[in-house]
Amino acid sequence: MLEKIVIANRGEIALRILRACHELGIKTVAVHSTVDRDLKHVRLADETVCIGGPPSVESYLNIPALISAAEVTDAVAIHPGYGFLSENADFAERVEESGFVFIGPRPETIRLMGDKVSAIKAMKAAGVPCVPGSDGPLTEDAGRNLKLARDIGYPVIIKAAGGGGGRGMRVVHSEASLLGAIALTRMEAGAAFGNDVVYMEKFLDHPRHVEFQVLADTHGNAVHLGERDCSMQRRHQKVIEEAPAPGITADQRQRMGAVCTDACRNIGYRGAGTFEFLYQDGEFYFIEMNTRVQVEHPVTEMITGVDIVREQILIAAGEPLSFQQQDIGFRGHAVECRINAEDAVTFMPSPGTITQFHSPGGPGIRIDTHIYDGYRVPPNYDSMVCKLVAHGNTRARAFARMRQALSEIVIEGIKTNIPLHLELINDTAFQAGGTNIHYLEKKLGI
Ligand code: ADP
Repeated sequence: MLEKIVIANRGEIALRILRACHELGIKTVAVHSTVDRDLKHVRLADETVCIGGPPSVESYLNIPALISAAEVTDAVAIHPGYGFLSENADFAERVEESGFVFIGPRPETIRLMGDKVSAIKAMKAAGVPCVPGSDGPLTEDAGRNLKLARDIGYPVIIKAAGGGGGRGMRVVHSEASLLGAIALTRMEAGAAFGNDVVYMEKFLDHPRHVEFQVLADTHGNAVHLGERDCSMQRRHQKVIEEAPAPGITADQRQRMGAVCTDACRNIGYRGAGTFEFLYQDGEFYFIEMNTRVQVEHPVTEMITGVDIVREQILIAAGEPLSFQQQDIGFRGHAVECRINAEDAVTFMPSPGTITQFHSPGGPGIRIDTHIYDGYRVPPNYDSMVCKLVAHGNTRARAFARMRQALSEIVIEGIKTNIPLHLELINDTAFQAGGTNIHYLEKKLGI
């Protein structure tokens, strides 16, 4: 077993990882920036190391400081959480070269999946359905690009191979703007990601975001934990997620789950991962793979009973999965609201001190949060302060429980998007199920 783990993250996910470690009898090292001394997991950890100043580049993205923290505490492994360095292949490589276990996929896999062109190529080869597109990078050949777009059919979307976080994409509706859009996306991608490779896909105009959770060990076993629907998005950022995805049949789940686990075995995947698809008119189209634990993993945990973070740690320790596909059952429905420190109307971040916090409760309610009375939300990081999760035997019951929890929760001193969540949980189209990725922005009039 891994005796001591460095948690290379902050906030709710750091606390989530700490809980999984302590449950397994593993000691924890919390690393933190100078403004994060009062984080809940820092207080609960066996050891703490201050790794730098408030800006992420000085602390949570500071590779030498993280490696040193592992060295001085005699830790054996590093869990990167999500965001920050979690999908940085160079970091994973440095961790392994320094003699520590990286709790995640092999560096080569992270690199392969981090480049969307190589990821799509690998997925196609593994039999995963992808969006019709350029089948590789666009060249400088204008005639070829015009023909490609004509063959695919407008609208098309130009995407950066190194893009992420919803950036580096441009939709093109007609031939007149194609070449300009390619040049502009290429330029922006070069500046933002240091990689000016771009590719072309058919732009799907009313897709849902449906993703499959997988776990793969180092003994060749891979299982899927079903799918999540994360279509409720603003600026490509997920706001509410649920599992299972409304309307997806057991047959579709089984078929697509098998496609994903076959792909895992094919590329020698290790750890937890997510295959993201756009789902439109009954068809799935792969867009990318996330090689880490995701923010929305609790909805899957609620319907399967599998502790995904615990499994990540056991896989990293070299253990074979303790279950097979036929052992995985799906029970009821779960929904998660991401509660952010932000204005519910303008979405402006609202850092500051939480003067009062009352947690909701009752059957089927789970709350993953690091906040407490008197906790100060620093302005330096992501604004998510709490994940509120509701589970029920049916989707309607999960929604009813979420509605009650949202009306019970009290977070004072800062602004939050709780009013937006209440409005969405009461929205009749969302309640009916199956709203697409444009629904929220249309509703908000943006
Ligand atoms: P990122 O890594 O930046 O999250 P993705 O490739 O996952 O980029 O795409 C992010 C979002 O952009 C998707 O969830 C979807 O909303 C939109 N998108 C991406 N590709 C397409 C496409 N071919 N058609 C329509 N929308 C797309």
